[in-house]
Amino acid sequence: MRFEHETLPQAVRFASGEAGAMVAESVRRLGGSRVMVIAAPAEADLARRVTAGVAVAVRHDEVAMHVPVEVARRARLAADRADVLVSVGGGSTTGLAKAVALSTGLPIVAVPTTYAGSEATNVWGLTEGARKTTGVDDRVLPRAVVYDAALTLSLPVAMSVASGLNALAHCVDAMWGPRADPIDRALAGEGIRALAAGLPRVVAEPGGLPGREQVLYGAYLAAVAFASAGSGLHHKICHVLGGRYGLPHAQTHAVVLPYVLAFNAPAAPDAEERIAGAFGTDTALAGLQRLRAVLDAPRALRDHGLAEADIDDAVPEILAAVPKHNPRPVTAAGLRRLLDAAWRGADPVHDEETTT
Ligand code: NAD
Repeated sequence: MRFEHETLPQAVRFASGEAGAMVAESVRRLGGSRVMVIAAPAEADLARRVTAGVAVAVRHDEVAMHVPVEVARRARLAADRADVLVSVGGGSTTGLAKAVALSTGLPIVAVPTTYAGSEATNVWGLTEGARKTTGVDDRVLPRAVVYDAALTLSLPVAMSVASGLNALAHCVDAMWGPRADPIDRALAGEGIRALAAGLPRVVAEPGGLPGREQVLYGAYLAAVAFASAGSGLHHKICHVLGGRYGLPHAQTHAVVLPYVLAFNAPAAPDAEERIAGAFGTDTALAGLQRLRAVLDAPRALRDHGLAEADIDDAVPEILAAVPKHNPRPVTAAGLRRLLDAAWRGADPVHDEETTT
């Protein structure tokens, strides 16, 4: 066994119903006295409650999916009086705080309210026109994360399912990402177990905390594993679909995942065994599909804004980004078949044909 693993420095506080106290403690430890709170209008009330105990210098609520450069520019201007950023919201909100941190170096206290996991990665993303650019920079890694499952109780079931499957996609891609190592795989396996246990409970009892806590815990593990392993085939596909065609992030991940798993798993026996083991099923795909059925998961890209004609346009863009060491060679024809099946919502199958 020979590998190198970097653990990112971050304080993680996990306590349901205690976000306010934990945010105050996190800001105090960072020596913050002029906090910029970043939260979308929909999360404004939540953010007000969570930041009641800190000295707020500015509240900023212009948040947009995939962080358009103009939105980032205005947030950076608004940050000139702040010494700490507190973000309260989903991945779009965390992403905006990261864009501010990227150019200002301000520390972030992240309070996630979805299961996207951006708070546990040092990856930033910005969108200019139809092109999304991502990069890695330790300055954007939130210095503290406050996980309070009570804040996710208001997340509608359909969004909770899509977001939880986005987290599951982090786990699956972490099994074969370009820098995947045994620690990433161990974290990802436990992440899959927690998500598979928690998500059905969220669907059965959306107002209950135990399911939400499991999903939040799984989402954190998923993001840590993913940040270390790097983007695999799945994320490269979703990155193009989200950035170029404006598809919703979580739903796109939820739809595409079984097709990538069907494509890669037969060529990645270790990942196959670990994922199946985490689900407690004979095969990884059977586990994912069983979970997706219980959750009534998003099914087809055509339901989420992709036009059939976009597939041909997307193929070369994705192909150029496929990681060199993907377990299986990816060809234009194979990718087109994968996207076509995902567009229609066809049954994902382990099909040798999909490889050529
Ligand atoms: P989002 O942040 O856009 O939120 C989706 C919707 O849910 C919004 O309308 C929001 O107002 C609402 N919402 C959020 N929390 C809620 C709550 N508790 N109750 C009710 N409604 C709530 O979507 P997302 O899926 O969380 O994040 C997607 C973005 O995050 C994408 O831009 C993606 O690229 C980015 N992301 C980045 C990383 C990274 O490592 N950099 C990782 C994952 C996702």
